[in-house]
Amino acid sequence: MFSGFGLKFFNLDGTSTHHMINEIAYKHALKKTKKNGFPGIISLDLHSGYYGPDGKWSKPISKVSDHMYNPATDTGNAMNNAIESYKIACKQLNSANKLEKKLGNLACARGLHFLVDGLTPAHHIGHKILLGRGGADWYDPYWNRPKSNTYNVIFMPHGKFEKKCAFYMFMHTKKIKKSYAKFRQTKQLKAILDENELKNFIKKQALKIRMTGIYEKFLSNENIKKEVIQELFPEMIYTVEIYIRSLYTRSALPQKPHKYRDKIAKTYKNLKEKIPRIKIPILK
Ligand SMILES: [Zn+2]
Repeated sequence: MFSGFGLKFFNLDGTSTHHMINEIAYKHALKKTKKNGFPGIISLDLHSGYYGPDGKWSKPISKVSDHMYNPATDTGNAMNNAIESYKIACKQLNSANKLEKKLGNLACARGLHFLVDGLTPAHHIGHKILLGRGGADWYDPYWNRPKSNTYNVIFMPHGKFEKKCAFYMFMHTKKIKKSYAKFRQTKQLKAILDENELKNFIKKQALKIRMTGIYEKFLSNENIKKEVIQELFPEMIYTVEIYIRSLYTRSALPQKPHKYRDKIAKTYKNLKEKIPRIKIPILK
């Protein structure tokens, strides 16, 4: 999915679809919950967009198939990566080592990035190849590389679809938030703690999205605006919300004691001691 632009000194991450999905899901998942050191949305956003797995720095260490998931054939690594990051994050967030803990934030953000990629219809098509041009290890018929050097993914159907979704997300955020609030009312919102169960769930969600045929509709130039706003985004945000809930519950960070708890207890004890005990005569 579209992950924002980045230049050397600034980036336009705020426009990224990854971020906007994360933000809506995060708000619903942990609205009134104490964070207890769980990464905040700003930290997650920072590492899931341009400075995350889609950034240039990340290219040498991740393959194209790492961002893809074909739910019809269960190939491509996006969903497996989301679960691997989930496992790493749960461990690191609980570490006593400060650096490890920080790395836990990064693992959460990476997991969210791969999850959103794995739910994106344009990432559901194609298969793995061993010898692709320029090291690409995934064949996507709507993202095949022409011979010219001026090739750019944003002019291919794959990129065009993501651009369209990003545009709808940006222009109709309010509407999408509203349709999601309604959508989740009838949904099971429990955390899924077992990683295999969570993997099954996110893969099933990808298949469900694939089965709607929204990408085929787009490819045959039909209008998909209504579906993107009312079906695709709510389904994606829902999956991300469950993932965040699971991550939060599974990492089970220790409750931080209330800052003033001891002070309040002491004052209460002192006051109690000072109150004279009054004996009330019992009337006969
Ligand atoms: Zn990606």
